[in-house]
Amino acid sequence: MSQFQESEQISMIRSSLKSFIEKEMPRDLVKRWDRENYFPRDVHDKLVEMGCMGLTVAEAYGGTGKDITATAVVIEELCSRSMSVGCGYIQSSCYAGLNLGEVASEKQKESLLPRVAGEGLMLSYGLSEPDVGADLASVKSSAVRNGDTLIVNGSKRFCSGAAISDYIYTLVRTGPTDQKYKNLSIILIPPTSPGVLLEPQESMGLKGAGTYDVSFSDVEIPVDSIVGGEEGWNKGWEKLAGPGLDIEKVEVSAMALGIARAAVDDAWAYSQERIQFGKPICSFQSIRHMLAEAKTKLAACRLMTYQAAFLIDQNLPATVETSMAKLFVSETAREIVLKCQEVMGAYGYVGDFDMERYVRDILVMPILGGSSAIQKNNICNRLKLPK
Ligand SMILES: Cc1cc2nc3c(=O)[nH]c(=O)nc-3n(C[C@H](O)[C@H](O)[C@H](O)COP(=O)(O)OP(=O)(O)OC[C@H]3O[C@@H](n4cnc5c(N)ncnc54)[C@H](O)[C@@H]3O)c2cc1C
Repeated sequence: MSQFQESEQISMIRSSLKSFIEKEMPRDLVKRWDRENYFPRDVHDKLVEMGCMGLTVAEAYGGTGKDITATAVVIEELCSRSMSVGCGYIQSSCYAGLNLGEVASEKQKESLLPRVAGEGLMLSYGLSEPDVGADLASVKSSAVRNGDTLIVNGSKRFCSGAAISDYIYTLVRTGPTDQKYKNLSIILIPPTSPGVLLEPQESMGLKGAGTYDVSFSDVEIPVDSIVGGEEGWNKGWEKLAGPGLDIEKVEVSAMALGIARAAVDDAWAYSQERIQFGKPICSFQSIRHMLAEAKTKLAACRLMTYQAAFLIDQNLPATVETSMAKLFVSETAREIVLKCQEVMGAYGYVGDFDMERYVRDILVMPILGGSSAIQKNNICNRLKLPK
């Protein structure tokens, strides 16, 4: 069997997710969640019961063992219907399950990972700041030690899912700025801590989990909130830029793939129902060609995404391939969705159909998780192209 054929186990996960989506996430309900910017915690809890969160957690901590291909399948399927549920899943299985499994202290793993697999514990990412986007090592939010306590001050932007998360996975400066990549730490801050203020940010897509401006004013948290424990102090950059980053690129690729697939399926079906000039529009060559190109590009996106996941699962080098997947899939998925919108004409632009939501959601994919320009930099740098 090649890596491009789904194993029996992966096919089973995919088919149970499809049944789950039809039962628990019908289109009308999903439309309402999007309109009301609502996160359906009950659906998240049912995914926990199905064992989906355990796909990133080692058996020793209550999961079924790290399986990035299976995780990408769950993300693709959920995001083909709802970003609200899909993003909540990522906050649990990826932000929490993968990061904590990779870089937390043994004590943190023992206390938090069973809660990821068994309760769907969620993290949100507090990385970006008002003046800090791609250049994350320049964060200004800070934490200082005061005995057994940390005092945190500063502000974060675009903290998606902050209000529904158990902890904000917060990158802070914890020492002098003389060396940019040193003196950074990651700390776990409950969003309900005194001194934490969340303010929702308006965004055109990714409704549900919501994205927030977060400010910290003299927030006091215990020192054991440092990710990695005491040894994690000033080691934040290594923890952030480790293998977790490769996996994040696969997560975004799988999200984009799910949205693009839904757009192609809807446009394909619509083209057979919409009659103009006495014929279904799928009989016009212009429509046929758009759909043929969309299907072809979608197939390429699928191969790029699952090839990258396969390399990670095989513990093979994947930094270049994950950047290539993130770059190609997010950009191509955006092209696919915009073409599918064109197939549906005016009905691709209005709220009666899901296409307008796919358009809003797909536009952010080349921006999130390292922009396309950053992925191009990564590819050339990793392949050692001289500057
Ligand atoms: C809906 C949404 C949800 C988000 N969720 C989160 C979240 O949960 N947590 C979080 O921390 N952040 C989140 N973000 C922020 C996201 O990760 C940032 O948008 C991203 O890191 C890029 O930062 P920026 O948009 O400020 O762009 P900037 O870094 O300011 O870049 C602006 C432009 O310059 C280009 N550029 C920048 N540096 C370089 C370079 N070295 N070489 C070439 N080109 C360059 C970029 O590609 C881009 O085109 C979210 C953003 C959105 C829109």
